[in-house]
Amino acid sequence: MDLNLITNIAECHIEAPHILLYSHYPAAIVALLLGIFVYIKNTKYLPAKILLFSFVSFSLWVVFDLITWINPHSGIIMFTWSIMNILEPLIFFSLLYFAYVYISKDDMSLKTKLFFILLLAPLFFLAPLDVNLVKFNIVSCESIQGDFINYVYFLDLFFSSLVITYLLISYRKTDKESRKQVFYLSFGLILFLLAFSWSNIFGNITTNWEITQYGLFGMPVFIAFLAYLIVKFQAFNVKLLGAQALVVALVILIGSQFAFINNPTNKILNGITLALSVVFGWFLIRSVKNEVRRKEELQLMSDKLARANDQLRKLDNAKSEFISIASHQLRTPLTAIKGFISLLLEGSYGAVETKIRDVLNKIYLSNERLIQLVEDLLNISRIESGRMEYKFVLGDIVKLVNDLQDTFMITAKNRGLSLTFAVPKEEIPPVEMDQAKIREVASNLIDNSLKYTQKGGVTVSVTQNGGAVRVIVSDTGIGIPKENLPYLFSKFSRGKDTSRLHAEGTGLGLYVGKNLVEMHHGKVWAESDGPNRGSRFIVELPLRQPVDK
Ligand code: ADP
Repeated sequence: MDLNLITNIAECHIEAPHILLYSHYPAAIVALLLGIFVYIKNTKYLPAKILLFSFVSFSLWVVFDLITWINPHSGIIMFTWSIMNILEPLIFFSLLYFAYVYISKDDMSLKTKLFFILLLAPLFFLAPLDVNLVKFNIVSCESIQGDFINYVYFLDLFFSSLVITYLLISYRKTDKESRKQVFYLSFGLILFLLAFSWSNIFGNITTNWEITQYGLFGMPVFIAFLAYLIVKFQAFNVKLLGAQALVVALVILIGSQFAFINNPTNKILNGITLALSVVFGWFLIRSVKNEVRRKEELQLMSDKLARANDQLRKLDNAKSEFISIASHQLRTPLTAIKGFISLLLEGSYGAVETKIRDVLNKIYLSNERLIQLVEDLLNISRIESGRMEYKFVLGDIVKLVNDLQDTFMITAKNRGLSLTFAVPKEEIPPVEMDQAKIREVASNLIDNSLKYTQKGGVTVSVTQNGGAVRVIVSDTGIGIPKENLPYLFSKFSRGKDTSRLHAEGTGLGLYVGKNLVEMHHGKVWAESDGPNRGSRFIVELPLRQPVDK
């Protein structure tokens, strides 16, 4: 066949199908747009290169198909038709190549590539010959295809089957995480391949070429799946917002309406709609981008905060560990000192002069304070690491409090203060508690009241208040300013003027006490009418509490 002979010798006019432009324009435009977009974002990524090649081939095929339909010159039709017969298998092959490289994340071996090149080579040699297009039918305005077309369709089907088989195998083989991606890719790609190949084959068999129009709709569907992959999984390492993809799709859809609107008024209206969509879309994308940026910043900050928090927790643990070890080590020598001073004072090592006895007494008291401090520190580290053990039993709280009388009577007398234990009017039911812990809490409160009172005295009482029992320690001491009340029970918290009266305090007693009471599901709080007007410390324990044992 000599193309030159035919060129311009025949002109034909056939009626193009209604949906010709509507099926061609969007398909070619979306394919080109996505191919270029992905490639620009990732020029060195092999799947992006192959996809671009594939989509450019597809778009060329679409353009040539359009020319075939619209152009009246038989020569040009013969030319475009024969090129399409080369492009078609190339599109199928490149999509197979793309699927393989994208999923396996590896290039094909040289041997495999050579095999495919050998399969494709005849296309280039045979396309311009008679075996491709035999002659031109001027009546139907179509080329009469030679046997070559069977090879073209063979390749189409061969590559399609390979892609489909490969996708199905990969889907079964991939792990759960990538499975979704393979699924969406396979679904979109298979849909396109089937639509494109079979519409062409049916067109050829039935010589009803209108059918081929519908095959082209497979491309926007495939593109939609690819766009979803990009938005959802950042496929091709591209960051694309859902809003961006949707706005572009909307603009393309509205733009493609120009392909079949004939009425000028409608064209203007569609133009306005298109312009408005572009403007609104632009604003929408901008606001979504801002939102995303803000979210990312927030995420970054919260990650930083979480890391800092983690670091702090580790430091805090290290600190608690250190305090715990140090306290344990301190306790043993302090207890030994206490024992030896007691023995000295009792005269076990011979009579002790009054002067020395005074000194020994002072050493004894200082040592006691140190022991208390170490005990507080140990308690804190036990509480904070959750290692504090409790033995809950039903016990008589009135007896427990009264038993403290002897311990503090001497101290009160020495300080010239009164210490009264008010007997409860009604009978107090037994309370489920760890007696040693509650004794420690009550002792600390009485001790504090005696420390922070210069005139008057301290009263201790036990009352029942509904479903709870209260131990109240009230004094006529220095009182507590209102603004200090909320901080009294915090770690290392000491009142401003307190050091003047009692320099050795640590601010740990109330903190430990509060934690111990709370483990009993109880409450402890302080009340005071103000400086120098005394204070009341109240411990409230529930009578029938659900205790964690
Ligand atoms: P410390 O007595 O060793 O300082 P605490 O935790 O026992 O530690 O008490 C914390 C602070 O609460 C004290 O420093 C003091 O300011 C205040 N406080 C405790 N008990 C009384 C009280 N009975 N009267 C006035 N202030 C008190």
